[in-house]
Amino acid sequence: MTYFDYGATTPIDSEVLDAYIKATQHFFANTTSLHFLGKEANQMMIQATSDIFKTLDLKNHNLIYTSNATEANNLAIIGYVKQFSKGKIITTKVEHASVYQTMQSLEDRYTVCYLDVDDTGHIRLEDLKRELTTDTLLVSIMWVNNIVGSIMDIRGVIEVMKAYPKAKLHVDIVQGLCKIVPDFDFNEIDFLTFSTHKIYGPKGIGGLFIKQGVTIQKILYGSEAQNGLRPGTMDLSLIVATAKAIKKFYSKTQENEAYVKTLFHEAISSLSKNPKIVINTPREHVSPYVINLSIPSIKGETLVHHLEKEMIYVSTGSACSSKLQKPERTVLAMTNSMELATSSIRITLSHLTTHPEIKHLVEVLNQL
Ligand code: PLP
Repeated sequence: MTYFDYGATTPIDSEVLDAYIKATQHFFANTTSLHFLGKEANQMMIQATSDIFKTLDLKNHNLIYTSNATEANNLAIIGYVKQFSKGKIITTKVEHASVYQTMQSLEDRYTVCYLDVDDTGHIRLEDLKRELTTDTLLVSIMWVNNIVGSIMDIRGVIEVMKAYPKAKLHVDIVQGLCKIVPDFDFNEIDFLTFSTHKIYGPKGIGGLFIKQGVTIQKILYGSEAQNGLRPGTMDLSLIVATAKAIKKFYSKTQENEAYVKTLFHEAISSLSKNPKIVINTPREHVSPYVINLSIPSIKGETLVHHLEKEMIYVSTGSACSSKLQKPERTVLAMTNSMELATSSIRITLSHLTTHPEIKHLVEVLNQL
């Protein structure tokens, strides 16, 4: 079988799994318990968190562990704007559903502006400049788009926002972390969301980095765990596994990105020779981990199932929306074509992907 759905989730790495198993076997106590075992577990959690900060060179953030990036995005956006009775929020038309739908839920109270993307799937800084106002509370822009792979100019966003110091910046780094070498400093961002299962770690954990001094309100109520901002018993083993995954894969970002680029270029150059295939993924400022294409006469779902018969596993879009059978929102926003947006598939790569796998995929797609 050939797995091309690493953007949806990744298999757990064996060293990460080992770290998870060891922690779960030997340190099962509740990190908030007052006794020795609890303190020991809490100490391990502090150590794992400190390892994450050190690896990512984060100097002025706190970290709230959540169940996944969906929860972290909800916490950042709702938890921050909740403190204000009105104001403006700026986001994009191509955010992951966990940002996009959260924004939609806030429309009755706040002015929410959804920035357009150009035909390569990138936002324009001029649009952001035009929309920013002194009453802007929050700007939420993803780093790497999960559907077509466009890399947003976060460095430019940081620069533009310097004229509006009251507005906070939230960046969903789920599809960039451990895949793309950042050209901006994580330390300059108020909120950063990540997800462990996208970087060869277990499912069930993600996190939100919050810049020190930036306050948010809780959206879940319960214990005082994690300063009360994310109450509930913490799973130390998931935290230890997260630290292990970040330590192992962050240092390999450049090496893996360079290798995946060779796979990406091989696939794009072969597929673009076929006049029936439209490649939606941009050619520049793009993550080599994502290839999005349409075969206009074939529905995306049909294509996914056809490839499945050859034991090739791809998706139509984000795993979270793939069952909805709607036009793909990002592809529609960048192409304005219903046909391309309903016939698109997403092929996502990994450092585990091989050249023969790419060759096989291209052959099967060409046969179609
Ligand atoms: N943000 C982006 C950009 C994603 O690609 C995804 C998952 O596909 C998420 C957020 C949600 O991640 P999780 O599955 O951890 O909730």
